[in-house]
Amino acid sequence: SANLSLMLQAFPFAENRRLLLVQDVTDLRKAEAMRRDFVANVSHEMRTPLTVMMGFLETVQTLDLEEPQKEQYLEMMMTQARRMKNLVEDLLTLANLEANTLPASNQKVQMSTIFALLKNDAEALSQSKHSLNFHADDQVNILGDERELLSAFGNLVSNAVRYTPESGKIDVSWSVTEHGQGVFSVSDSGPGIPPEHLPRLTERFYRVDRSRSRETGGTGLGLAIVKHIANRHQAQLLIESLSGSGSTFKLVFPADRLTSS
Ligand code: ADP
Repeated sequence: SANLSLMLQAFPFAENRRLLLVQDVTDLRKAEAMRRDFVANVSHEMRTPLTVMMGFLETVQTLDLEEPQKEQYLEMMMTQARRMKNLVEDLLTLANLEANTLPASNQKVQMSTIFALLKNDAEALSQSKHSLNFHADDQVNILGDERELLSAFGNLVSNAVRYTPESGKIDVSWSVTEHGQGVFSVSDSGPGIPPEHLPRLTERFYRVDRSRSRETGGTGLGLAIVKHIANRHQAQLLIESLSGSGSTFKLVFPADRLTSS
């Protein structure tokens, strides 16, 4: 309100512009607060693996470790280094997505190819711990950017695998609705997400359960990336989930983004 009175003093005759001015200041403040939060979050996310890694390094330096203990320490350091690498890669992906408003390309993306790659990655990540089902209507393909789409779909599938406990079920499908929209869907029998978290899920670094997400190797940026890529393809991200009864993430593409093979 201090700002408002200042502005009214500066523009005493702009009575009918009051609301607009207040709005502007609030938006600026919000943007500034978000930027500050983001920098704080990134710093924290980078410091954690570095601190852990330095702890291990110190141990290796001070103690004269024998095999297999030495090997275990090196492996733990590698895990932390990988975490840092994933974070930096996700940050770069987000920065690139934010810099360009249009998809990098608008080509025919073959869904049979996409599904073969998704299946491969999911099997490697799951290590036969889940029942994985893939089903694609490969007569219908998407017009868009293959790398971006693979990244969005891959993020949803890897979340399903990472958050679903052993012997759970994951269904991945691609189909066309009666209205001609294309639906990419990932359903899992995992822990689900309490409804109060759903609206904030695509915010950077927003996590339902911090410690659990760390354990599963997440960067906290996956769904923010998915949301960006969806927007760039005019697709909608729908999340259906209840606490305790699994989750379904859908990307719905408009008919004019589809093409038959
Ligand atoms: P993260 O790297 O932490 O997985 P994401 O942006 O991909 O980050 O997801 C944000 C949060 O949404 C996760 O931390 C997790 O709490 C929740 N989440 C995402 N996918 C699922 C899922 N399939 N089942 C349960 N929770 C999920």
